[in-house]
Amino acid sequence: RSKIKIRDLDFFYNDHQVLSCINETIPENAITAIVGPSGAGKSTFLSLLNRLWENIPGSRIKGRVLVRFSGKQCDEFTDINAPGFSAIQLRRSVGMVFQTPNPLPMSIFNNVSFPLKLAGIKKRAEVEERVTKAIQASGLWPEVKDRLEKKATVLSGGQQQRLCMARALVMAPEILLLDEPTSSLDPASSKKIEDLMVELKERCTLVMVSHGPEQVKAISDHVIEFLPES
Ligand code: ADP
Ligand code: ADP
Repeated sequence: RSKIKIRDLDFFYNDHQVLSCINETIPENAITAIVGPSGAGKSTFLSLLNRLWENIPGSRIKGRVLVRFSGKQCDEFTDINAPGFSAIQLRRSVGMVFQTPNPLPMSIFNNVSFPLKLAGIKKRAEVEERVTKAIQASGLWPEVKDRLEKKATVLSGGQQQRLCMARALVMAPEILLLDEPTSSLDPASSKKIEDLMVELKERCTLVMVSHGPEQVKAISDHVIEFLPES
């Protein structure tokens, strides 16, 4: 079953066309890997799935990015770039994890509760429950349960990346975008993130940019390859 359909998609930074006539289907509850050489447009493609590209002056999209959000009729797709579709709704449905862990300069607890704060979810019991569950889902709970008030920067790089996963998961996203989530980590930490991604297929559709052929082979169900810039 497909979760995202990309139709006749072109993308430009000013006059520079980065993506040209892309047609792809991304399956639900699976890991899709985006591969290709540096400069091929992989990160740009991810940014089209959560409209992050809108912040870049001179950027322009043509074509459609269609998402089947849960709770809708089973074959109803929404064009996330259509004028009526709200970016706020998109922020709640799509989580993102970057290449380098980017914890906020605050406590471990507050890093994970931050998206809830932005969404106006303030009830203490609910916040505590959702933060605890997200940290548990990230596999980090035993390592941090006694130091939730400590700054996130006390954690190792691998732990910080799992914290960033927890921060994305606290909103229970339907889609999780990951831009080379393990490329700044040592092998043991990478393996933990990979295992976590496989577990998350149960409740998420994952789209990952990856540079590692072994990683792609080991954990992805579907591959989209972008060719070098012409
Ligand atoms: P990849 O992730 O495959 O390395 P990117 O999506 O980062 O590729 O970049 C694709 C092309 O778009 C490159 O030529 C890059 O220089 C260009 N590009 C990326 N970001 C911007 C930007 N903010 N403004 C202008 N050009 C950009
Ligand atoms: P602020 O940054 O505004 O000072 P706090 O650090 O007190 O806020 O935390 C904000 C909310 O997060 C509080 O309402 C509290 O319920 C919750 N919180 C913070 N730390 C913990 C913790 N270790 N366990 C449970 N809840 C916590």
